[in-house]
Amino acid sequence: MVIKIGVLELQGDFALHHRVFERLEIESMPVKMPSDLNLVDGLVIPGGESTTISLLIDTFNMRDSLIEFGTNYPVMGTCAGLIMMSKKVDDNRVNPLGLLDIFVERNAYGRQLNSSTEIVTYNINPKKKIKLATTLIRAPKISYTGENIHVLGKFNDSPTAVLSGHHLGLSFHPELDKIDLFHQILFDNTSPFYYKNFDKVYAT
Ligand code: GLN
Repeated sequence: MVIKIGVLELQGDFALHHRVFERLEIESMPVKMPSDLNLVDGLVIPGGESTTISLLIDTFNMRDSLIEFGTNYPVMGTCAGLIMMSKKVDDNRVNPLGLLDIFVERNAYGRQLNSSTEIVTYNINPKKKIKLATTLIRAPKISYTGENIHVLGKFNDSPTAVLSGHHLGLSFHPELDKIDLFHQILFDNTSPFYYKNFDKVYAT
């Protein structure tokens, strides 16, 4: 089946996500208005500034469509995108979509870590562990995870990647380090790391 993935292009670093999809030979397109969601099978909410993204989601009347899309289709959020997918944010200027049962603190890695690349071990599935560069840029910290949240990796005891059903949230920017694995997990149905294979692994 040919699929097409949307990248929310209201604000932020959306361009590099299209490069990831080019490498994976998956078609992608910009999502800028509610009707664009009718044309795609999944969505990336990129990093950027969550206060701005939140405001623009309401300005362009996209809130209800994004929530409805997210209940039915895979959605991945990186950094500010993760903040938008959360249930609760420690900043009332951000009105999150509530797709992931997590609470987040904006910019919580402190000043010295405003931008840093760490090496984090990810448990892609119970049989596959992999160390990957994890670039945190004024990154959010996940301070609470609900029962259905599966933590794939942690830095300094805080989750940096969480998966829950067809929702994947990353506090970092894999697209900056040309790491395609997380996009494969959620969107590449030809990959051994595709989340549906992986749910089966967890089910056994
Ligand atoms: N600090 C930004 C925010 O709170 C997120 C930064 C990023 O996406 N790299 O929205």
